[in-house]
Amino acid sequence: MENLMYKSTRGSKNYLTSSEAIKRGLAEDGGLYMPTSIPKIDLDFIGSMVDAPYSERAFKVLSLYLTDYDSRTLHEICEKAYSAERFVGGAAPVYSLNEKTDVLELWHGPTCAFKDMALQIMPMLLSEALKMTGEKNDALILVATSGDTGKAALEGYRDVDKIRIMVFYPENGVSAMQKLQMASQEGNNVNVVAIKGNFDDAQTGVKEIFASKEIAHKLLEKNTFLSSANSINWGRLVPQVAYYFSAYCDMVKAKRIKLGDRISVVVPTGNFGNIFAAHLARAMGLPIKKLICASNKNSVLTDFIEKGVYDKNREFYTTISPSMDILVSSNVERLLSLIAGEEGTADYMTALKNEGKYVLSDEQKDAVKAGFGAGFTTEEETAETIKETFEKYGYLIDTHTAVAMKCAKEYIGSGNGEQVLVVSTASPYKFASSVIEALGKKCELEAVLAPEELEALSGKEIPLPLVKLHEKRIRFDKSIEKTEMADEVLKF
Ligand SMILES: *Cc1c(COP(=O)(O)O)cnc(C)c1O
Repeated sequence: MENLMYKSTRGSKNYLTSSEAIKRGLAEDGGLYMPTSIPKIDLDFIGSMVDAPYSERAFKVLSLYLTDYDSRTLHEICEKAYSAERFVGGAAPVYSLNEKTDVLELWHGPTCAFKDMALQIMPMLLSEALKMTGEKNDALILVATSGDTGKAALEGYRDVDKIRIMVFYPENGVSAMQKLQMASQEGNNVNVVAIKGNFDDAQTGVKEIFASKEIAHKLLEKNTFLSSANSINWGRLVPQVAYYFSAYCDMVKAKRIKLGDRISVVVPTGNFGNIFAAHLARAMGLPIKKLICASNKNSVLTDFIEKGVYDKNREFYTTISPSMDILVSSNVERLLSLIAGEEGTADYMTALKNEGKYVLSDEQKDAVKAGFGAGFTTEEETAETIKETFEKYGYLIDTHTAVAMKCAKEYIGSGNGEQVLVVSTASPYKFASSVIEALGKKCELEAVLAPEELEALSGKEIPLPLVKLHEKRIRFDKSIEKTEMADEVLKF
């Protein structure tokens, strides 16, 4: 069988295997890697996974995309990445909330956020890719994070041979818990630095470092090349496709739906990676009707989907769902490449860079609207939804999941009959002080002790990785201007 090849969203004619695409991260023309065709599956493919464990489901889905990886090695990688030690209680369980709503819990990994689903496996995929491509130099992973990616990447990459990792986060754009998780990171190959700015500043800074030939050259003199762990990297995105198949299988198994029934999926969205993975699953043949993109007060994507206008020239809000505080959602570019072609994508990305805005044609807008719905919540609505969900169902959700839950409720309320899957992206304990306040209580203790307070309040246990976090030693407390990022990388 011939390998599935990968190419840039912006049209350079350089075709790569999946291992090469994972190693490079970003294409030379600034675009993101996409497969040249999307693998297709039928209902038998799904049916055959219904009784399989998560690692097996992931293996089957990943095999369709990572065709140059040795099958046995890929199988071992999947088993290791999604083992019971790493994901206590199962990798991606589905919880039945009420008659019409199921919840896909993606936060049972070591850092209690959904990024673990990809970042527990991606280091192994990269490590294998370095071997497969005969790479002599070491990889330096650069990450811009709005909180959860940073910790999940640090945890996934710590002490991995021939790879180092450096994380930048916006100083005032992450929760106390997230900051503490990162600042206390263990491992001999890690570095964490705060930026005086917001997430977009951090992300732009990292992108510029990636684009700089000068920096690449200087690093090569030290036998190092750059790679990324952000969802712009294909190795980060493709593992996420698997859990949509897994959730569907679990819903069939629990008789919430019949094999072949269409469901709709609501995804709390930031960089558009998670929801784009769902879009790929649907394009492969998973029966999904609508994908609903749920945003917080930074509702740039709601306007994009409803009006076909992407406009980042707007106020940036810091919200209680910080991992979704984004104005430039990188993975929209991948969707654009499917609906506007590569030339069109390159033009739109140029316009976004120069004017901060682009407008889809009517035809393209209709194509987006056919597959996607969109909604957003105010801060008050997010909080109310946490309270209501807990009081009505005894089910505790975090501030990101709440955004999706509210949009799901609206979607079901407007007469859509299919089963709805709400994607839950973080443990409520990761954003404990906001959750406590949403429940109408005052957070009495300092922020890092909030999980214990929430445990007492809700009667639900703190996940193990978050227990006693406040007693850990702080290793990283440096804060720099965004103009100093490149120097900091070279120093490391
Ligand atoms: C990263 C993150 C999101 C946003 O996911 P994207 O793939 O960037 O859209 C939502 N919720 C939480 C808790 C996250 O960590």
